Amino acid sequence: MWKSVAAAPADSILGLTEAYKNDPNPHKVNLGVGVYMDNTGTTPILQCVKDAERILLGVEQSKSYLPISGDPQFGRQIQRLVFGEGSDIITNDRAATAHSPGGTGGLRIGAELIKRFRPEAATWISSPTWANHRGIFTAAGFPIKEYPYYDAASKGLRFEDLLATLNQVPAGDVVLLHACCHNPSGVDPDEDQWQKIAAVAADRGWLPFLDFAYQGLGVGIEADRTAVTAFAATGVDFFVASSFSKNFGLYNERTGAITVVSPTAEEKNIALSHLKATVRVCYSNPPAHGGLIVKTILSEPTLEAHWRQELAAMCGRIVAMRQALVDGLAARGVNQDFSYIKRQKGMFSFSGLADETVAWLRECKAIYVVGGGRINVAGLTSANIDYVCDSIAEALRQ
Ligand code: PMP
Repeated sequence: MWKSVAAAPADSILGLTEAYKNDPNPHKVNLGVGVYMDNTGTTPILQCVKDAERILLGVEQSKSYLPISGDPQFGRQIQRLVFGEGSDIITNDRAATAHSPGGTGGLRIGAELIKRFRPEAATWISSPTWANHRGIFTAAGFPIKEYPYYDAASKGLRFEDLLATLNQVPAGDVVLLHACCHNPSGVDPDEDQWQKIAAVAADRGWLPFLDFAYQGLGVGIEADRTAVTAFAATGVDFFVASSFSKNFGLYNERTGAITVVSPTAEEKNIALSHLKATVRVCYSNPPAHGGLIVKTILSEPTLEAHWRQELAAMCGRIVAMRQALVDGLAARGVNQDFSYIKRQKGMFSFSGLADETVAWLRECKAIYVVGGGRINVAGLTSANIDYVCDSIAEALRQ
């Protein structure tokens, strides 16, 4: 069957991790992979997750199937997290949530669902974006178009161009937006800009699809939902794909959610029926363990408070490492201005390093950065920050 078939290209970021693992250099640093690491360079299991697992071990009575859209209590807790307590969307019962296998699963289910009812639509993605966005929406059958986003010259947002393009998007098309912590740039619209984007969606009639993979890792749980709140206020239909890989550290449990918001509870019920029909033919019903952990933590105030602390610590460490990198480069006499790294949000940063510098850092210093210069700030630790700053300063002097 496969003799005459060319092999699919390897995933570039995972390929980088493979190369890193095989590198014998004792000073090697992995700034490529997209997982949080603590100050010892490990990706920890949160203490609140361990506590929830201990509780589950005692109370779980059955491994029978979950409902198609997952545990209803999980769905309620996710809506509280995504929209905030007292949101009009919750009080008016306007959202349907399905527990999905990771944020990726949520994006794909959302895409499949939209494709069934908007077969002619295109999907608009930011330039640049997380590579899998193109893959997921292409696989679901959408033509892909791009809207301007990152400005390499100013290291900021091309906001006027972005807005002008979104004003031209045909009604019914899908616009995929990073709700916070844009991957790969780390550049997010501010509150006023989100309100303007949401107003364009309401005015033009395109369908906003928010990828919410990093809630709590930008500024904090509440501050990071600015985009969601802006779209919620317009009363339009929109989609939110949540991931709990990063903010609960549940990467391999494949835990996420897809939430479909409708203008009325009646429409939501119709949306929910089709959401379930879509899940049924993709994976029938979700894997339980990760969702049960999230539900247990969010249903128990002490555990939730502990989770909030642990999440705030992860977020705080990322902010501190951004600062340490900028200060470390300045202290080594690098006269290029890197202060924009401090303004970026979330785990990722477009470092502004040229491709030749990225290649040199890898070959000569065993520092692994994704092509295009994206670094995972969480890969920096107090043990490697000096080495990384020395190496970048040396590279820039050449
Ligand atoms: N969206 C973005 C922007 C991401 O960066 C990621 C993870 N790298 C995801 C979605 C998917 O996350 P998950 O691992 O939960 O599928």
